[in-house]
Order: sequence, then C-alpha cells, then structure tokens
Amino acid sequence: MKKLTSATSPVTLHHYRNLLEVEGIATEIKNEHFGSLLGGMPLTETQLWVVNDLDYDRAKQLIDGTALDESPKASWRCAQCGEDNEGQFAACWNCGSTAPQK
Ligand SMILES: [Zn+2]
Repeated sequence: MKKLTSATSPVTLHHYRNLLEVEGIATEIKNEHFGSLLGGMPLTETQLWVVNDLDYDRAKQLIDGTALDESPKASWRCAQCGEDNEGQFAACWNCGSTAPQK
C-alpha cells in the first residue's frame, strides 16, 4: 500500500479512483467518513492509496495527467442521471457515464 494523493474533497478522489480502476489499478480511499463524524467539517484530508506498490508510478502519472488537464472547460450535464459535472471530468461523478463528445 502506498499513499498516492490526498484531497479535501472525496469527490475528486472518487473520480481518480474510477479513472485508475479503468486502468486496472486497485485503490483504497481512507478517512472518507472522518469529517461526517465531526459535524460535517472536513478536519482531515481524504487519502487515496494504491493497493499494489508496483502500480504507484503509473497511477501517479495518470493522476498528474488529469491534474494538468484542468484548464477551464464548460461543465456538462450527464445524459444518464442529469447531474452537473465539472468540465475536467471525463466521466460523471455520480453514475460513471462518460461525458458527451464535443
Ligand atoms: Zn451521471
């Protein structure tokens, strides 16, 4: 187990997790529910861990590649469930459907 990255928003990490799962990289999210135990304030970061150390470098590259791609893009609405998604997300955070091609 190796810690890959952390964020205050579990939504971001779930997005990374889906991304890595598609690549066959197993991950675990830690501290996810810590904040909700303390009145909903996120007092600690949520962490994303790579289960297999051998996947770490590749996982890091994939995450970094995503992070670099955060230039402002138009947000989009999921055709599957109707959720609004940030433009940099290639898949719906809610149901995992891929973004419509533009
Ligand atoms: Zn959706």
